Amino acid sequence: MSAMNILANAQANLRGVAVALLSAALLLLCASAPALAENAALKVRVGAHADFTRFVLELEKPSAYRLLTLGDPYRIVIDLPDLKWSAPGSAADGAGGGLIRKYRFGQFRAGVSRFVLDLKAPAAIKAHFLLGPDSGAGHRLVLDLTPSDAASFAAALGSVASADWSEEALLAAAPREAEVRAPVRSAQDPAKPVRTIVLDPGHGGVDPGAIGSSGVYEKTIVLAFAKSLRQRLQKRGRYRVVLTREKDFYIPLRKRYEIAHEYEADLFISVHADAHRTSSIRGFSVYTLSEKASDKEAAALAAKENKSDILAGYDLSEYDDQTSFILLDLAQRKTSEASWQFAQSLVSNMGRDIRLLRRPHRFAGFAVLKTPTVPSVLVELGYLSNRQEERKLRTTSYRDTLADAMVRAIDAYFSQQELLSRS
Ligand SMILES: [Zn+2]
Repeated sequence: MSAMNILANAQANLRGVAVALLSAALLLLCASAPALAENAALKVRVGAHADFTRFVLELEKPSAYRLLTLGDPYRIVIDLPDLKWSAPGSAADGAGGGLIRKYRFGQFRAGVSRFVLDLKAPAAIKAHFLLGPDSGAGHRLVLDLTPSDAASFAAALGSVASADWSEEALLAAAPREAEVRAPVRSAQDPAKPVRTIVLDPGHGGVDPGAIGSSGVYEKTIVLAFAKSLRQRLQKRGRYRVVLTREKDFYIPLRKRYEIAHEYEADLFISVHADAHRTSSIRGFSVYTLSEKASDKEAAALAAKENKSDILAGYDLSEYDDQTSFILLDLAQRKTSEASWQFAQSLVSNMGRDIRLLRRPHRFAGFAVLKTPTVPSVLVELGYLSNRQEERKLRTTSYRDTLADAMVRAIDAYFSQQELLSRS
């Protein structure tokens, strides 16, 4: 079934018309209000029936929404204006049923919350509608999926619905992403220029990253660490620090390194914490970009981290092909040399206080490291799959120790660069 057919079907449906009217009214409200009315997700239910799968999201209030189908792997995305998760009975990440393998919920970006439904097989959206409170149930967003095939799924890719969603109005009403962009003026030695460092806490929102043995999320640990590191760097008085995200929402990989480019950063550090099948593996590691991976594990890690956009339901077809980044031109070669030097500085400076992974500097094709002009590394603070390391990473004191060690490595790196540029 094509997107137009789905839309036509939905609109032919009387209920659909009522929804559209209601949502149009809501949207007007949204557009005129200073901030979006708070809404909450109360419950998720997945019903597997013989010929269709029903996804029901119970809401505190009716809501505008937008549906997208994404391919490779098969996914359906439901975007809603800012939604609080308020469902004690069900997890924000849950098992599916029928055509749905599992679902995830989180903030996608400021003002937009997102469900990602991972499908077991291609499916078509047969119907979608809002229901008002009725016999004990509250407001509900209902989505009915029927089995489809690869070709029909491909034909329906992209925006499916709905007319009641206006991104401009939603974003205009949403709170802005925290501003961290004021430059630091240095009253310091002019021989030591202010350096801009972009810190990129990995994952966020709908993409939790690795999940620790106690259930802690990578996205939470790395954000807390990045804030600690920012505070310590700012105290040095010679760094301007920009975070790619301040809160728990998702940013596409490409946007992350574009921020580094936009700020003409001197250094880009993407911060992660890994999980491994073997729970005894632990230690800090650093990765730099290379077309050829240093080892199988690094290649697997890059593949996993590069999946972030897919997990977050990001539409990769919006991208130009970025895989054609090459290491050939001089700027890129200089950048990759500097990235290498910084990685070495991390290993030698952090190794004093922090347990390192065996062969702590590795390389592979990480998508987030592809700014041709900004020296970039990706660090894995440690392994959340290791009990002891997870416990440590959850404490402020260990994250602060890590941050102190990283400040030393950053200082050492820039001193070295200044010496090199003078000689
Ligand atoms: Zn990660």
